[in-house]
Amino acid sequence: MEEEPLTEGARPRAEASGGGGTEPCPGCGALVPTVDGPTHRYLGASPGCWAAFGRVLAREYSDPAFLAVHGLTVDTYAVQHPGTPSPQTIHSAGVHLVALHLVLERGRSVADAARFRQRAVERIRDRFEWLEPPASLGALTVLDVEGAADADEHAARVRAWARAAWEAWSPHHDTVRGWAARL
Ligand SMILES: [Zn+2]
Repeated sequence: MEEEPLTEGARPRAEASGGGGTEPCPGCGALVPTVDGPTHRYLGASPGCWAAFGRVLAREYSDPAFLAVHGLTVDTYAVQHPGTPSPQTIHSAGVHLVALHLVLERGRSVADAARFRQRAVERIRDRFEWLEPPASLGALTVLDVEGAADADEHAARVRAWARAAWEAWSPHHDTVRGWAARL
């Protein structure tokens, strides 16, 4: 079913329409500009953070070299914005945590992440349950990914971000590994 729901509506915004202040994103905690704008319909992201994610996606879509780590970008953003308990957020966190586990701990290719996610949807989605998000979801955020000089640096930043987010979820690693074992 939904392959990459996170990319819906994420677009770079040229103009910020807020009052120039900043606010912490309720998901990842990044201090982002207070702006009026769209955000994801169920992930817990502020408009300013969602706009930053949109800029990162735009750069990945603009250059195949940047696109190489796209799967990891999507998985990491999702697990840093778990939202509140609902069938959709439970499903999202489950699928994206399983994908992070497979890439970061099992050495699977980022290029295969979309396939893992699809398989998770087909085979283990009924096992997913709400995992209480840790107080901190990692020291790095999407803001730390922006501005890489080239594709290699971008990939390194995305991998560091992904590792920070995955480590933050360590109280639930065993649960996620158990789900992945059934793929
Ligand atoms: Zn955020």
